[in-house]
Amino acid sequence: MPELVFFSGTMDCGKSTLALQIAHNRSARGLQSVIFTRDDRAGEGKLSSRLGLVTEAVEATPELDLYGFVVERLSRGGKVDYIVVDEAQFLVTEQIDQLARIVDDLDLDVFAFGITTDFRTRLFPGSQRLIELADRVETLQVEAMCWCGARATHNARTVGGEMVVEGEQVVVGDVGAGIVGYEVLCRRHHRKRMTSATARAAALSPDVLPVTSG
Ligand SMILES: [Zn+2]
Repeated sequence: MPELVFFSGTMDCGKSTLALQIAHNRSARGLQSVIFTRDDRAGEGKLSSRLGLVTEAVEATPELDLYGFVVERLSRGGKVDYIVVDEAQFLVTEQIDQLARIVDDLDLDVFAFGITTDFRTRLFPGSQRLIELADRVETLQVEAMCWCGARATHNARTVGGEMVVEGEQVVVGDVGAGIVGYEVLCRRHHRKRMTSATARAAALSPDVLPVTSG
């Protein structure tokens, strides 16, 4: 039976690497995929992992009907054996419904990879819909670590190293160049808003924790 599977995790938990691995293993057996992604760090129409691997993908802009895209490819004689979706949290809810329809009406497996919650610990709409519709939700076992060594379960957005809890849900951070970045933290340090940078600053002035006034 074909399935809609949601592989979930924090940032840095190896989602994109696993997505690429699945595509590699199946293409080695002659199976062909359609890979959808959205706002990949490598740019439009790319699926990349932090380990440096990259492959071509279809950019799932909000207007794109994913079901219609696959039907069209099939009707033009294209071969599609399964679907991979990376950054699935960025899809709109209708697109998750389209993925379920691909499974049910086209009998194809759909492997969706995404972050469950945003920097405010709220579910992304795409992830929420996946949890509602998926046949299976798998929590990825390659666990990211907080700076304290605990299991990182939450995504923090940082501006200049300081954690922020307000702002647009989706700001794609250019971690290398921009001031907006992301860091995975344990829940304790997410609640205390203590990033590696603020923890380092606190360690350098051991008398008091930094207090912001005004
Ligand atoms: Zn921690």
